[in-house]
Amino acid sequence: MNIEKTGKGGGRLFGSGRCSSLSGSPGAAPVVHRMVEAMSQLQEEKSQLQEELVVLRERLALHDSDQHATSTQLQNQVENLKEKLISQAQEVSRLRSELGGTDLEKHRDRLMVENERLRQELQELRAQPAAPCPGCEHSQESTQLRDKLSQLQLEVAENKGMLSELNLEVQQKTDRLAEVELRLKDCLAEKAQEEERLSRRLRDSHETIASLRAQSPPVKYVIKTVEVESSKTKQALSESQARNQHLQEQVAMQRQVLKEMEQQLHSSHQLTAQLRAQIAMYEAELERAHGQMLEEMQSLEEDKNRAIEEAFARAQVEMKAVHENLAGVRTNLLTLQPALRTLTNDYNGLKRQVRGFPMLLQEALRSVKAEIGQAIEEVNNNNQELLRKYRRELQLRKKCHNELVRLKGNIRVIARVRPVTKEDGEGPEATNAVTFDPDDDSIIHLLHKGKPVSFELDKVFSPGASQQDVFQEVQALITSCIDGFNVCIFAYGQTGAGKTYTMEGTPENPGINQRALQLLFSEVQEKASDWQYTITVSAAEIYNEVLRDLLGREPQEKLEIRLCPDGSGQLYVPGLTEFQVQSVEDINKVFEFGHTNRTTEFTNLNEHSSRSHALLIVTVRGVDCSTGLRTIGKLNLVDLAGSERVGKSGAEGHRLREAQHINKSLSALGDVIAALRSRQGHVPFRNSKLTYLLQDSLSGDSKTLMVVQVSPVEKNASETLYSLKFAERVRSVELGPGSRRTELGSWSSQEHLEWEPACQTPQPSARAHSAPTSGTSSRPGSIRRKLQPSGRSRPVPV
Ligand code: ADP
Ligand code: MG
Repeated sequence: MNIEKTGKGGGRLFGSGRCSSLSGSPGAAPVVHRMVEAMSQLQEEKSQLQEELVVLRERLALHDSDQHATSTQLQNQVENLKEKLISQAQEVSRLRSELGGTDLEKHRDRLMVENERLRQELQELRAQPAAPCPGCEHSQESTQLRDKLSQLQLEVAENKGMLSELNLEVQQKTDRLAEVELRLKDCLAEKAQEEERLSRRLRDSHETIASLRAQSPPVKYVIKTVEVESSKTKQALSESQARNQHLQEQVAMQRQVLKEMEQQLHSSHQLTAQLRAQIAMYEAELERAHGQMLEEMQSLEEDKNRAIEEAFARAQVEMKAVHENLAGVRTNLLTLQPALRTLTNDYNGLKRQVRGFPMLLQEALRSVKAEIGQAIEEVNNNNQELLRKYRRELQLRKKCHNELVRLKGNIRVIARVRPVTKEDGEGPEATNAVTFDPDDDSIIHLLHKGKPVSFELDKVFSPGASQQDVFQEVQALITSCIDGFNVCIFAYGQTGAGKTYTMEGTPENPGINQRALQLLFSEVQEKASDWQYTITVSAAEIYNEVLRDLLGREPQEKLEIRLCPDGSGQLYVPGLTEFQVQSVEDINKVFEFGHTNRTTEFTNLNEHSSRSHALLIVTVRGVDCSTGLRTIGKLNLVDLAGSERVGKSGAEGHRLREAQHINKSLSALGDVIAALRSRQGHVPFRNSKLTYLLQDSLSGDSKTLMVVQVSPVEKNASETLYSLKFAERVRSVELGPGSRRTELGSWSSQEHLEWEPACQTPQPSARAHSAPTSGTSSRPGSIRRKLQPSGRSRPVPV
């Protein structure tokens, strides 16, 4: 349009200028010539321009055709791209339909259905009872197969997981594809717009060319027009060239994009192929697993069927056996029916009998009761008779015992020789002075000042004798205490001869005291079904003729011996503590307590204990559960003060008083025992606290045992001689009513055989009975006296 306007204006201007110059110069040939020249030049120029125009036209046409070709090419390209896009979209949709969600989903659904079916089958299999053949091998197989199945299920679950992963991947790919598609669409839209614009410009150019062609400008303006048009065309050409260039760039860019897209498509194709291959692999895997599962299911099914068949066969066999049994039972039943009939008859008969049974029972009960009553009466009578006999037997036993005691002598004397100890020292003084008779255990020989002296006692224990041996000898005495007898056991001898060892012993090797109590406990326990016993213990000491309670709270308190106020003539010590003991532990506690009392009281216990008499008084009280008969027996265990003659060495003061008291009490004991054995009318019990306290236990049918302790060594030979003489004198007091005699030579120096207790005074210098005599009962010339039997006898405690 611009070009057109410019051309028209220019033409008019050019025409008016030329008209004025031709009319204004009259007649000038050079001017014409110049004009002709100019004209020819113009002509040349015109032809040149025309040529150029032709060229331009040609070029324009060429350009047009080029442009056309380019646009067609572009159109084609766009078409191609569109087609490709459509085909891609189709391909994508096809792929999606082929591989995407639908198929996978279908496959997954199929798997799920399959899985569900398998699960149901498994449940059915599990639910199937193992009854037909419990514990058979098929059940094991079935369990194995079930395990396999569960494994397969696990695999299926894994495959499912993989499938879902693949699904996810495919979904991602699809999303990417959609993205690419979208971008492609955008590119296409851009292309279309560009194309639209290009075609519009092409159309404009065509129109311009057409309008240019349609113009037929006058010749005079041709050159100008051509000039103008030429420049315009040049401009248009350059513009179109630039546009063309731009379009080519765009096309190149599009090509690049297309190439990229093609590459993407290619890669997505590859990916798809890969995915397909994977899916195919998984499908194959699944197929294989499914096949395996099916196979296992098949084998399971077969096993199951086989097991069922076997069970069925077995059941049939069993059924057959049961049928046979049934037939047998039926026949049995048939045969049993008559028996049942007879049984029914019997039953009816019994029923009738049962109806009459209460009557019969009552009658029977009555007669049985009468019989039982009679029997009880008979038993009662028998019991009465037995009791009467038992009491008579008891009396008889007592009588026999008394008789035995009378015959044997209720006073026995034994000797115990202790072993040589370290304290005895060494040298000639410590040599052994005591020997024994290997054939007679009642004989002891002493070598005194080179002369052998022999003594006969009831028993002699050599140093080898154990505590138990000695205890066995006294055991019978102790048990008689349970029967209500009073017993006294004395340990007599010089200090250090073993009195305390024999009576108390050591904790590891206890003496008579503890063993006696143990024995009493066990005896009492043995009789516990018929008798009820209580055992009490008191401990006292007599020192310088003063009686003290070793178990009391105030051991230094002097105790007195009194007559029972009930007129029974019995003695008792007011304030003397009595402990009831039930076990060995109790005894130990009592001993310990007594010991502590003694220890705290005296600084030199050994010294003190050898100067005092220690008494353990055990009282056993019994009640016969069936008869109510009561007994009381006392066991006095006495560790006497040392019998050594202190006075000889001229002791004075305190020591002399001690010696006098010991002399007095030991003499009194000797006298009492002698009087008792010789059954004298008067027994000087009151001559000492010791004999007075033990009066009950020394008189009557009481039993006394004296253990004379002897030191074996030479240096003690004099004291040993003295002790053994004393022992033999005690023993040799013979028993027997009137006819018995006893050797009284050794006692002659004392007036205490006809004693008046009040006038008895001990000899201060030496023991009253210490006059030297040979001491053997068989010694010729010994003076014997007839002794009257003791009129006093303690009644048996009841
Ligand atoms: P006593 O009481 O007569 O003064 P002991 O009983 O204290 O004498 O004894 C003096 C020593 O001799 C003690 O060491 C004691 O252990 C010991 N003894 C006494 N008799 C025996 C014996 N049969 N066996 C062993 N050792 C004894
Ligand atoms: Mg002692």
